[in-house]
Amino acid sequence: MSAAAVIVAAGAGVRAGGERPKQYQAIAGKPVLRHTVEAFLGHPGIADVQVVIGEDHQALYDEALGDLPLPRPVTGGATRQVSVARGLDALRGRKPDLVLIHDGARPFVSASVISHVIAHLDRHAAVIPALAVTDTLKRAKGNVVADTVDRTGLWAVQTPQGFRFEAITQAHARAGAAAEQDFSDDASIAEWAGIEVALIPGAPDNTKVTSADDISAADLRLRRNALLALGDIRVGQGFDVHAFGPGDYVTLCGVRIAHDRGLSGHSDADAPLHALTDALLGSIGEGDIGVHFPPSDARWRGADSAIFLKHAAGLIAARNGIIANADLTIVCEAPKISPYVVQMRRRIAEILKVAPDRIGVKATTSETMGFTGRGEGLVAMATATVRLPG
Ligand code: MG
Repeated sequence: MSAAAVIVAAGAGVRAGGERPKQYQAIAGKPVLRHTVEAFLGHPGIADVQVVIGEDHQALYDEALGDLPLPRPVTGGATRQVSVARGLDALRGRKPDLVLIHDGARPFVSASVISHVIAHLDRHAAVIPALAVTDTLKRAKGNVVADTVDRTGLWAVQTPQGFRFEAITQAHARAGAAAEQDFSDDASIAEWAGIEVALIPGAPDNTKVTSADDISAADLRLRRNALLALGDIRVGQGFDVHAFGPGDYVTLCGVRIAHDRGLSGHSDADAPLHALTDALLGSIGEGDIGVHFPPSDARWRGADSAIFLKHAAGLIAARNGIIANADLTIVCEAPKISPYVVQMRRRIAEILKVAPDRIGVKATTSETMGFTGRGEGLVAMATATVRLPG
């Protein structure tokens, strides 16, 4: 059975304050609505996602979600009920068997809740996730308690609420025609239309972002989760030396630089890339470059050292890790490195598939002292910060 989703984000979203409606405010660097929509777009059981937006929100939507593979959003109405009806209407031509209706302001919806709702629509025409009410409930007049409400059998209801598509579209049409415009969720419309609604367990963290406090709590929660998800932080270091020899260029950080000497070595003798490769390998306890690429192997004669660096980065990626930064220092009297630093950082960033601002390249001399000072060879040092799931 094919399933579509309607994401309702047509509310003014002003209760949270701020410069823009809550669904377009950023949590962990991304608009709330984008988090929500990506949860459905990324779910293998959902074939189609239809977003319903507020009347004046097209520009905000384009900025927040314009690059995602979505059909044009439809514009909502004065009430949530009307907005959902318009979303369902937009899906009519695409004929899904099932539809999940979800609040744009619930960005923490998990893949498993979506899966459970879909799975239970096998046996039921309407399925909603809910949590049993555990707090004691009071009814009050003003701020004075009138009585205590028996919480037996009471549930707090979440979204996504799932329905057989035909059943809920007909129920919505009937409710609209009957001028019943005051339903606060879609299950209420199903109940009103005589459809049996089944409860399944919701998720405690599938909360709705409503107030300014909710926005900052959601932001903190996502950032903390991201930090914890890659919480095993490693630092590796590498060091390499190559002697100058005959030649008319050197290759440093993947950049060819004209020089009155070359660097001797088995590969292209790119000492900074060798040092960086060792730093990455060291961060995950994978030995050094010589273990992975023995100098005795004729395959690596004159090889582009980007191969070695890519291999080390690949080992980190295979562990679902990321490279947080790398920093290199080249020590030589000549050639002059500074004119090439930008190009070098860009090349390393390209090999490692990270942003150039995560790569540092610096150069210094040894003040004419020692073997680098005498121009006999060149030294490269590197450190790298690697983050692994921990
Ligand atoms: Mg080397």
